[in-house]
Amino acid sequence: MIIRKLFKFENAHIVRGCTTRRCSESIHGHSYTVELLFASDHLDRGQMVYDFGLTKLTIKELIDSFDHAITLWSGDDPEYLRDMKRWSRRWVELPVSPSAEQYARVIFLMVDLVLKNTITVNNEKNVTLSYVVVHETQTGYAQASREDAYNERMGRIDLEAIRFSDGVKEEWSDPSIWQKLLRGEKIQNPTKI
Ligand SMILES: [Zn+2]
Repeated sequence: MIIRKLFKFENAHIVRGCTTRRCSESIHGHSYTVELLFASDHLDRGQMVYDFGLTKLTIKELIDSFDHAITLWSGDDPEYLRDMKRWSRRWVELPVSPSAEQYARVIFLMVDLVLKNTITVNNEKNVTLSYVVVHETQTGYAQASREDAYNERMGRIDLEAIRFSDGVKEEWSDPSIWQKLLRGEKIQNPTKI
């Protein structure tokens, strides 16, 4: 059984090295839609794979980091990176370029980390993330499987190398949640929301 949850964010970027000049040479924005597809062969006490309400906690907050922010590639020109960080309070720096493909891989790894560190309390079992689909426009999307997300031939994504600005972190309900997840600290799901 697969369930799907949608998230949305508005974000600015440049995709260096791509063929389209508007994408590679000008800062521009997209209204992104992200689909998370969760799978399980078991249903919890609510006869659900995973309560959608639970995805509105840490998972939603982390995806919302990209909203009204600029996403930067750490391999970009140092002068550009410095200026963007200086003039935008909300930014996220990735070790890969912010193409729809890499967004799908990055978000897969981020959500996978949250799931791995979540203690479930409503008899959820065998819940896995199967795909992340990132719609960059109404007509174009990228879909990452687990295999894609962990495929280093597509670029190594070291989660420790993802940097969120203070302006992003201060809006999280726990500004140190990302560091805690990286350290492997567990998050217990609430019994009621
Ligand atoms: Zn673009």
